[in-house]
Amino acid sequence: MARYTGPVCRLCRREGEKLYLKGDRCYSDKCGFSKHSYAPGQHGQNQGRKKVSEYGIQLREKQKTRRIYGLLERQFRSYFEKAERQQGNTGENLLVLLERRLDNVVLRLGMASGRVQARQLVRHGHFTVNGHRVDIPSFLVKAGDVVAIHEASKESPLVKEIGEALPTKTVPAWLEVNAAAMSGTVTRYPTREEIDIPIQEHLIVELYSR
Ligand code: SF4
Repeated sequence: MARYTGPVCRLCRREGEKLYLKGDRCYSDKCGFSKHSYAPGQHGQNQGRKKVSEYGIQLREKQKTRRIYGLLERQFRSYFEKAERQQGNTGENLLVLLERRLDNVVLRLGMASGRVQARQLVRHGHFTVNGHRVDIPSFLVKAGDVVAIHEASKESPLVKEIGEALPTKTVPAWLEVNAAAMSGTVTRYPTREEIDIPIQEHLIVELYSR
C-alpha cells in the first residue's frame, strides 16, 4: 500500500501543530515544529494572517487526521465510506476504524516509539494476531484479538529494548498489555473519549458531505 514518503516535520508545520509523527524526536529539542512553528514554503511565515474559509477549516481538519494516521487520500476516503455504512455517528465510527489499524494498536500498546516505527515493525513481520503472523499495517483488529511480538523476533535487539520498556508504558483502557508475554489484548473498541487526538471529526463529515 502506498504511503507518504516526503519530509515528515513539514506536515506538522503545515497543520500548525505538533502531530507527533517521529516518536522520541517529537519530544526533544530537535523537533522541526519547535524550531520553525510556521507553515513551510516561501510564504509560510505570512500564512497566519490569511482569513480561512469554512471549507479551509474542514479541509485542514481532514488533512491533519489523515496525516496523524499516515494515510493517503484514497485510503482515508475509503475508511470514511466504511464509517458511513456503519450504524451510529459517522465521525466516531471513522476514528474507531482508524484506531483499530494494527499499526495503531502496536503504537498504543507501547510497542513502538511512533507510528512510522509501528508501521515498519508490522511490515517486517514482527507481529502476530491470534498466533498468525500479520504484516499488513492496515489490518483491522477485532475485540478479543491478541497482538503479540513474533517468537522469532524476540531476539532482535530493538524488540528486546521494546519489551524491556513495556512495563513502564501506559495503555488505553480498551487494551490490556501482558509485558512478560510481549503481547496485548484488544478487550473492546475504544469510545470517542478514549481516543486522545485533538480532532473535531464532525468537520471531516461536513467536508465529505459537501
Ligand atoms: Fe512533528 Fe515530530 Fe517533526 Fe516535531 S519532530 S515537527 S512533532 S514530526
